Amino acid sequence: MKAVKAIKQNIEQQNFIKMKQLYEQAVSLLEKLISIRSFSGEERVAADAVEKFLNERSVSTIRKFNNIWCYNKYFDQEKPVIMLNSHLDTVKPNSQYVNDPFEPLIKEGKLYGLGSNDAGGPLVSLISTFLYFYERKDLPFNLCLATTAEEENSGQKGIRCILDDLMPISFAIVGEPTNMQLAIAEKGSMVLDCISTGRSGHAAREEGDNAIYKAIKDIAWFSTFDFPIESNMPNPVKMTVTQINAGLQHNIVPGECHFTVDIRFDHSYTAREILNTIKNHTFCDTTLRPNVLTPSSIDILHPLVKAGIAIGRQTYISPTSSDQGWLEMPSVKMGPGDSARSHTADEYIYLSEISDGITIYIDLLESIFPYLSNNPKSALQLDEPQHN
Ligand SMILES: [Zn+2]
Repeated sequence: MKAVKAIKQNIEQQNFIKMKQLYEQAVSLLEKLISIRSFSGEERVAADAVEKFLNERSVSTIRKFNNIWCYNKYFDQEKPVIMLNSHLDTVKPNSQYVNDPFEPLIKEGKLYGLGSNDAGGPLVSLISTFLYFYERKDLPFNLCLATTAEEENSGQKGIRCILDDLMPISFAIVGEPTNMQLAIAEKGSMVLDCISTGRSGHAAREEGDNAIYKAIKDIAWFSTFDFPIESNMPNPVKMTVTQINAGLQHNIVPGECHFTVDIRFDHSYTAREILNTIKNHTFCDTTLRPNVLTPSSIDILHPLVKAGIAIGRQTYISPTSSDQGWLEMPSVKMGPGDSARSHTADEYIYLSEISDGITIYIDLLESIFPYLSNNPKSALQLDEPQHN
């Protein structure tokens, strides 16, 4: 008995050391990434750093533009592939920053810096999780770690451009700050550029047809219209006018007024239905920007969701969109940090959120083992992606 106890203690001790090492590496990698400017489209040096970090740990990586990906050491074609994805790019720091956004600063248990919360914490926690499983021979799944670019601007050279290069993915965990809760659906988003057209004229005479007055009528519609839905259901489409521009000088009746509408929507309406409704109710000319992100969701009975609930995670519908919108396989969004801290001045993440993040990600993946151990691929075939 004593010997068994000693072995058990030894394993626990080794695991503790391994977890501590993974956590410390995650924090120092995050500090490094904060110090590197990585605005969308400019992630080259950040991608170099992640590539070097992985290569130094004997992980061979594949790269396309500033996207880096890799697989577990004992990749097995017979097993499903789980993608762990998060993004390298950050938004630009706003003018309210007091700290240097590019100087990692640890104070009172928090790590400050641009991108620390969105999505540095989730990114380094997923990297550590990948490393935890990397050399395991007994996994019932494969792992694909993908650290990708151009998330914040929904750019062409982000995750979209590597999806066809990856091994077929069965499902994905997208690392974004969610307080480690499971976002099982995410709203879609699209942007509409609108032009109200009138006729220019001198402001002093009864001339022209004021485009601003025309725009006001349409803007009033955008701000008040509710897309019909069953009672008690959340509003399926949220339209917000976010920019407006008109006029040349004070004494000219403006002939054109331009404004922009940000639209977030769930599965109740397709993008086409929303656009048709808008066209039927407004007078302006509308142009849809090309990067429409579709709403995503995963079946509540999917093993990943069941495993998450089993380890005490809560599920919710996320109002924000992410790279999940490009994925056609089932996915959840989950990561350490708080979405409310993203894109704010003096962004930070608690160090405890990173260590908990790594532990919970590992727990989640280990909780999927029983679902995949017999006949792993068919366990996932029930769950087709739910996109429209
Ligand atoms: Zn993000």
